[in-house]
Parts: sequence; C-alpha cells; structure tokens
Amino acid sequence: MTDPPGAASLPPEAAALLDRVPSEGASPPAWVFAEVGPPLFEAIRREGFRSLVLQVPAGLVRNAHDLAARLREATGARVVVAARPCFGACDFPSRDEAAGADAEVLLGHAPIPNVPRPLPAFFVEMRSAGGDPEALAETVVRAGLPSRLGLVASIQHLDLVGPLTQALARRGRTLETGTGDRRLAYPAQALGCNYTSASAIAERVDAFVFLGTGRFHPIGLAFVVDRPVYSLDPLQNTLDPPLDRGALVRRRQLLVARCRDARRWGVIVSTFAGQDRRPMAAALVARARARGLEAEVFATTRLDPGDLEGRDVDAFVNTACPRIALDDAELYARPMLTPPEFLMAIGELPLEPYRFDTFH
Ligand code: SF4
Repeated sequence: MTDPPGAASLPPEAAALLDRVPSEGASPPAWVFAEVGPPLFEAIRREGFRSLVLQVPAGLVRNAHDLAARLREATGARVVVAARPCFGACDFPSRDEAAGADAEVLLGHAPIPNVPRPLPAFFVEMRSAGGDPEALAETVVRAGLPSRLGLVASIQHLDLVGPLTQALARRGRTLETGTGDRRLAYPAQALGCNYTSASAIAERVDAFVFLGTGRFHPIGLAFVVDRPVYSLDPLQNTLDPPLDRGALVRRRQLLVARCRDARRWGVIVSTFAGQDRRPMAAALVARARARGLEAEVFATTRLDPGDLEGRDVDAFVNTACPRIALDDAELYARPMLTPPEFLMAIGELPLEPYRFDTFH
C-alpha cells in the first residue's frame, strides 16, 4: 500500500503524532444485512433481543417511523428510534439514546472493523440494486476517461463494482479496486476519513472514479490520491468532470497561512468511538504550548457550530471527523484546521506536499 502524498516527507515525530488512531477495543457481536427484510427480522428473533434502538442517517429520517413499525411487528421487540440522525459510519447511538436497549439496528453503514461498539449491532447497509453497468460503462467511455482507472464506491453501490468492471473490460478499459486497511470492511470501499483502498492502487491507475453521490468523498479522494477524480452517479448515470485538486489544496493552504499568527487555539475532540483522538489532541496542545501559544481542548460528541460561538480563540483545530474542517468550515466563526494543517500553521510541517487528515 502506498502512503498518501506527503507522508514520506513527514518528520518522524509528526508522522507518529498524526498516525495516532482512535482507541481500539473488543466489541459485542455484529451481523450485516443488505436491506431491511426477513433475514434481518429472523436474526433478531433468533438472537432473542427484546429491546432495540434504531438509528438512521439524515437521508432516511422520513422512513424511520415506518421502519420501526416493521421491525416491531416482525420481531415482537420494543423499538425506540434514536431521534438524532447518524452523523457517519463511526457514530453509534449514545448510552442515553440506547437506554434500555439490548441491541442496536444501524441503517446505511457498514461496520468499521477497528472501532469498538457498545452493544450487539445489526448493520443494514441499504445496498442499492439500481444502476445499469452497461450504460454506466458507455458513459465512462464516451467521456474519454483514461483506460487505466481506479474505483472507490460508497457502501450502497458496492454491488455494482463487479458488473461495471466487466462492462468496462468489454470496452477495453481496466477498472482496478484496492483493499484498504483495518478501518474499511470491503475492498473498493471509501470513508470520508479513509481512502486506503484507493491509495493502495494509485500508482497503477491514471484516474479515479468515485461511484456514488455527493461531494464529500470525491473531494477527500482528490486530496489523497493526486489523480483526476471523476464522480459517477450510478442512478442518474451522470459523470462529473474531475475536481480541481490544485484549487482545493490552495484554498486550504491559504487558510493555513491566515492562521500563522493565531495565538489562542481551541482543539476540538469528539468522544464518538470512531473519532476519539484525545491522545492526539493532548499532543497538539503540548506542541502549541511548547511554542508559547495558548491552547485548550474543547470536548464534545457531535459538534454543533453554536457550541463554539463566543469563544475567545483565534482558530480551532479539529481532531474529530475531517468533514467538520473540510465541509462545514463556513459554519464556524473562526478558522477550523485539520491536525496536519495545524502543524503547518505552527511551522512543524511544510505546506507542500499538502497532507490530508485520515483515520486508520
Ligand atoms: S470520522 Fe467521519 S468520515 Fe470517518 S467514519 Fe466517522 S463520520 Fe465517517
């Protein structure tokens, strides 16, 4: 597996700092299903769980009521819906949200193998049956993409990867997928904080295709692989042109430059199991103080921009989900950097090559 751009040039102490991972630990058992249906219901009945908490992502909140009713009727278990939509794959119902539950049903995500969970869990990945591989391959070929392509996909569209690979092969194109590290459950999978399935094959391909929707994953991928990244929407059969990686990087570097004079830093920590980098936060605080800067840790679960209003700080560094600094930065009144960007701002890492924040 190749390192992301910039990793090789890191000073060893910075590499050790940035490679710190959320704590691992043993988890209760988990079961994985493609969709809500009889196999899921049968497994819940078989395991004898009587009280469930159901967690859904924002895109499925409209269906949560009906899904809870289906679960209850099919299993006889008590079902409570976690009112807070799931933030991402490493966000499980909190102890309070799961009060009284003896198992959780988690929709829209795969397990993250190295993130501990508090309760037995039924993951329902909500795999999509949609997408015509022949039509998608035609779209890729007509757009003139290079013949050696790498691919990553969001979990809902992983079943399309094999048929699309074959459809492209019939048209003289090679589609490669890679196997990521212990944070990814499947080859070709990507998380917003982990693109190791792509960096594993980046040297062998001339461009990447992200199979899915939304901009968060392709932007992260473009930061990591330094190859053109196209977005292929499998249901609409639309192909977006490659992102301008140079512009993305320059925007972040400008932000870093703006923070060079920051004296008072707030270091954000989330206690979500898969984002909890308290040791890294403590090390960043120590680095800041060693340089005569002021730094304090701000602890949270799911960060709300309102939580940081009125704070007497010049800039924040976010050790939680990279989406907070990269996607939601405009929601905050002060600049929000990632940990590598913070090290750039205080002069411990060069601006080039730009290093993306990843979890492993
Ligand atoms: S850290 Fe963010 S991108 Fe990574 S799994 Fe958690 S929610 Fe998803």
